[in-house]
Parts: sequence; C-alpha cells; structure tokens
Amino acid sequence: MKELVIISGKGGTGKTSVTAGFAALADRAVLADCDVDAADLHLVLKPRTYKSEDFSGGKTARIVAERCTGCGTCAGVCRFGAVILPDPDAGGAYRIDPTACEGCKVCVEFCPAAAIAFEDTINGRWHIGQTRFGPLVYAELGVAEENSGKLVSLIRKEARALAVDKGCDLLIVDGSPGVGCPVIASIAGADLVLIVTEPTLSGRHDLGRVADLARHFGVPAAVCVNKADINPALSEQICSEAAERSLSVLASIPYDPQVTAAQVAGQTIIELGPGPAERVVRRLWEQTLDLLNGRMAAR
Ligand code: SF4
Ligand code: SF4
Repeated sequence: MKELVIISGKGGTGKTSVTAGFAALADRAVLADCDVDAADLHLVLKPRTYKSEDFSGGKTARIVAERCTGCGTCAGVCRFGAVILPDPDAGGAYRIDPTACEGCKVCVEFCPAAAIAFEDTINGRWHIGQTRFGPLVYAELGVAEENSGKLVSLIRKEARALAVDKGCDLLIVDGSPGVGCPVIASIAGADLVLIVTEPTLSGRHDLGRVADLARHFGVPAAVCVNKADINPALSEQICSEAAERSLSVLASIPYDPQVTAAQVAGQTIIELGPGPAERVVRRLWEQTLDLLNGRMAAR
C-alpha cells in the first residue's frame, strides 16, 4: 500500500481542495484527514459515519477530597499554578484547575497522602465514515485541546488498518499545515509528500521550511503552486527555489472561481465540471500517481 500525504507550509493554500479533488479521481483509496486542529475534508466528502470513539491524548490530576490532609505540598511543587488554594475566609479544600493542569504528574508523586488521582482526559473524538469516494478516517480535536500529534498518529494508524482490511492499495492523507508536531506525525514514513503552496511571501517561506522537514524525515516530496497566476513573478521564484532544492513542481494551478463554487456546493472541483483548475488538478493527479508508483523519478 502506498501513502500520499498532501501538506502545506501554511494554512489556506488550497491543500484540502486538492485532496478532495484527488479523492474524486482515485480508484479504491482510503482517505484520512490529519488536519485535526481544523478538520474540514468531511464537509466536502460528507461521510456517513459508522464508528466514533473518544480520543484521550493525556492525563490530568484531580485531588480526592476525602484523602487530602490539606498539607499544601501540591501547591508548592506545581510549576503551572494549577492548584487552587482553599479560601482562607470561606474554607473549602485544595482543588486542581483542569484547564491549567499540564499533566506533569509532579503533584501526584509528591503528595504524602496519595490523595491525587491521575486520570485520562478526553481531548476529542475520531470517526470512520463512508463517503461517495471511499472510507474516510477523520477527527475533531476539542476546543483548546493539545496533543494533536498523537491524534494524527492515531488517524494514520486507523486509516492504514482500514486500507489493509479493505484491500485498498492507496491511502490519501490531508496532512496538517505548518512544521510542528502534527505535520511531523502526518508525514513520517509516508511514500510521497505533495506540498501545496501559493505565490505569497509566506507561502514561499513556508514551502522551504516544510520541504526541509520532509527531507529531514527522508520522505520524497514534490510541489504544486496553487493560484499561480495571481503573482506570476513570485510563482517563478517558487519554481526556481524548488529546483534549487531538487523538488519537482508538478503543476501550477490557476486561480479559478470554480474552486470556491465547489466548496460552497459541498463538492470537489472535479465534480463541479470542466474548468481551468479542474483540468490542472486532473493532470496533477496523474503526475502524482506516476511519481508515487515510480513511473517518474523524484528529482
Ligand atoms: S499534597 Fe496531597 S494531601 Fe497535601 S494538599 Fe495536596 S492533595 Fe492534599
Ligand atoms: S499534574 Fe503537574 S500541572 Fe497538573 S496539578 Fe499536578 S503538578 Fe500541577
């Protein structure tokens, strides 16, 4: 089974639109949305969800009031100010603010009365659903929740298992934007990374960062420039810099209002019908497959 991950150095480059277009063109692929901080592939693919589970990415401390002697040790050792002291006038007990607790476990280790429980926290939910193009594994991280890298790893693991189970030989992953932990979890061990960028200064800068990341993890990468004609000069620079990094630029997708129209209609650019972007995405898909299957050498 081959795994293709579509990423971008920054958000808003059109990564998910390209991924959705590939989903429409693929034959027997499993799809995964690893952009768990802002998952939106499911809005276009509209899965019929048949499995949902909680995701626990960490633990938080909780004081068991019946066992607490009120010694105050926990407040002294917590470096995150998460222990709430009793009110000297109103009384009460020591408590832990779950939103401030970083789950370091120091208070648990130092509590002389073994009065602090260390419990799993629910940080989000992950789902499997059937879309019109194949199964989709996706997730929703809770508001202000962390550990999205762990959730990304879980999504990829479940998607791979599903692909094996269903006999699919391709996994298409909508990766996380940026260069942090979630994107590292998205690309490590993949067969090919397609970097979607745009002709803006931040797009050019972040392309370099994410290309370095792919190289660091030994994952072959190629580039496509989205909305290339909104700044031809910068698109040229991006292509030159990609060449200097030995990266193939597989396609330059023109700005096309049909892309937005497709999003509004909850469709892929392929489904919406012929147009400038649709034609290039079709060619991009063929070239990406050639690269993935070794019919074209990565530069
Ligand atoms: S260290 Fe343990 S016993 Fe002391 S105040 Fe904290 S929870 Fe209570
Ligand atoms: S687990 Fe760490 S962060 Fe949380 S209350 Fe205890 S010492 Fe503070």
